[in-house]
Amino acid sequence: MLTDMKTDDVLITCDGLVKIFKTEDIEVMALQGLDMEIKRGELMSVIGKSGSGKSTLMNIIGGLEKPSAGKIVVAGKNLSDMTEKEMVNYRKNTVGFVWQKSERNLFKYLTALENIEAAMNFTGKSSKEKRTKALELLEMVGMSHKKDSYPTRMSGGEQQRIAIAVALANDPQILLADEPTGAVDTKTSNHIQDLFRRLNKELGITIIIVTHDMKLAAKVDRVVMISDGKISTEKIMKAKYRENIDSLTDEELYENAHEEYSVLDKAGRVQLNDEMLDAAGIDTNKVKITVEDGKVIITAENS
Ligand code: ADP
Ligand code: MG
Repeated sequence: MLTDMKTDDVLITCDGLVKIFKTEDIEVMALQGLDMEIKRGELMSVIGKSGSGKSTLMNIIGGLEKPSAGKIVVAGKNLSDMTEKEMVNYRKNTVGFVWQKSERNLFKYLTALENIEAAMNFTGKSSKEKRTKALELLEMVGMSHKKDSYPTRMSGGEQQRIAIAVALANDPQILLADEPTGAVDTKTSNHIQDLFRRLNKELGITIIIVTHDMKLAAKVDRVVMISDGKISTEKIMKAKYRENIDSLTDEELYENAHEEYSVLDKAGRVQLNDEMLDAAGIDTNKVKITVEDGKVIITAENS
């Protein structure tokens, strides 16, 4: 577990990440020069339309895919410089994954306890050590009572709790969850989101959650929106809300708790969304930019 957590440490740096998928006759640019820093101990969510590049980003952070260009550095190590063997170790020990589909997280012919123990195979732990650790993890995710159940005999929410325990079995520094609540009802997904928050607090583990549910996304410190393979906006929770998070309703969190920022990239570009363009009456591809009283003002070309 992380005991020497320093909150200002940058754990993950994505620098101009590009990912191109080539199929027979078409190239898809899933990431288009994505820049992002994630601090050690952060709890953040990633939102964005389907196809915007969220899973690609998670797979690159998790060491399952290599970027076509750009750089990803985790805990001071450039993943592109790692040998195949280092990569295998990285996937096994540095990151833990929770996927949307239960079949990808759990072996259906193993019980909850056995699934968690299986995740510790090849770690050099004795059976007894594995058992102790697995029971501890079951307790942590609130599933001790289901330790001998098979995944098929559990609800979707219970399966995801076990999946989280499996993902934590090797004490990863980073927990990656790709739409972990995509297949469960709202109440259950709320509970799972609360579990992520508790684990983040208690273990100091860095957690990145992809979700399409903005209400859930709002329960974290930082929400990053991806559009067309780049970060477009970031919402950061205001300090006074962060301190009282448990006493707030979902509505309050969703409506008021975050400050929204547009991201200014290294080349000095920002993205104006459709709402902003409409409100400013900008409907051409040329704008006038002036600086007045220390403010940058963008206006339609003919105004
Ligand atoms: P999201 O998770 O936000 O829905 P993805 O990262 O899965 O988006 O996909 C981003 C884009 O890359 C999509 O256009 C998708 O079709 C494409 N893509 C993702 N993975 C592959 C792949 N293995 N082969 C070809 N295209 C892919
Ligand atoms: Mg996806």
